[in-house]
Amino acid sequence: MRYVKLGKTGLKISEVGFGGIPIIRLDIDTAVTVLRRAYERGITFYDTANLYRDSEEKIGRAFDGMRKKIVLATKTFQRDAAKAMKHIENSLRMLKTDYIDLYQLHQVAQEKDLLAITAPKGALEAVVKAREQGKVRFIGVTSHNLAMAVKLVKTGLFATVQFPFNFIEDEPKDELHRAARKRDMGILAMKPFAGGVIDNAEVAIKFLRQHPDVIPLPGFDSVASVDEVVSYYGRENKVTKKDRELMDKYRIELGKEFCHRCEYCQPCPHGVMITPAMAYKVVASRMSPAVAVEFSRVMMESVKLCEECGECEERCPYELPIQEMLKANYDLYERHRAGLT
Ligand code: SF4
Ligand code: SF4
Repeated sequence: MRYVKLGKTGLKISEVGFGGIPIIRLDIDTAVTVLRRAYERGITFYDTANLYRDSEEKIGRAFDGMRKKIVLATKTFQRDAAKAMKHIENSLRMLKTDYIDLYQLHQVAQEKDLLAITAPKGALEAVVKAREQGKVRFIGVTSHNLAMAVKLVKTGLFATVQFPFNFIEDEPKDELHRAARKRDMGILAMKPFAGGVIDNAEVAIKFLRQHPDVIPLPGFDSVASVDEVVSYYGRENKVTKKDRELMDKYRIELGKEFCHRCEYCQPCPHGVMITPAMAYKVVASRMSPAVAVEFSRVMMESVKLCEECGECEERCPYELPIQEMLKANYDLYERHRAGLT
């Protein structure tokens, strides 16, 4: 395992990090075992979120007494200062620490999100205050909207940017990564396996290792998955013709049904929470159906509000059959609700 500098934060972290979503579906003892295995195999960077249910608590439990040996990142969806500060305090408690290395404003996707976080009494104000108080060391941002991510980078307000990056969603390698590098920002790659859609970890990692200053944050749910991913980092990275053909095959097969979570389709005039509802199938595979039903209830119930106006499909740059996909996800949600898989 190599250790690299996370841009201008100067934080020294492992070349691959640990994404905190899949441990949600593990019981506490198993989650602690998986987290400790990751540490034993050299992973020192752990990224989670207030939103990820008990993920922070599990990370806090796994590394109690080891704070100086790891680098912790977490985030909030909140847009106003008071609620963001509550999340920071809660994260500190759950993670059993008195400082968070990297605190990120989560999923700043649309202009209204940027305006809200940067407004007086917006979330950024709280995070800056927490940094002054020593509760947070560096401030980062995450997004799924490429144009907005570039804009966020250019504001100069953040030390890191986190965006999906994998061989299906490789667009960030151009303008976004270039703009972040120019400002010496840390670059974090969420969804290195496209949220579970890429089931060939070896090829996924081969692609990512071609961009050594981009730190992938795969989620792990077992000791075996940690061992597998770490093993690919111990080898020379050679992307073969066969690997490239396989990547192309995935791209072609998924092209017509892969939601990039960019939110261009929103808002729905009838109140359907399109983007999170589009992600239900992936969420259910990562969290387990029972947890996903509870986690996604509000989003999935909103699908019933669809009036089939088609506006979202006109706005989707990937021309996805959104209505059809929402219906399929809703049917799956209903099955899960009924206890079927
Ligand atoms: S449905 Fe299309 S526009 Fe909406 S989030 Fe997915 S990819 Fe983006
Ligand atoms: S088709 Fe349905 S989900 Fe799409 S914008 Fe219209 S009402 Fe909303």
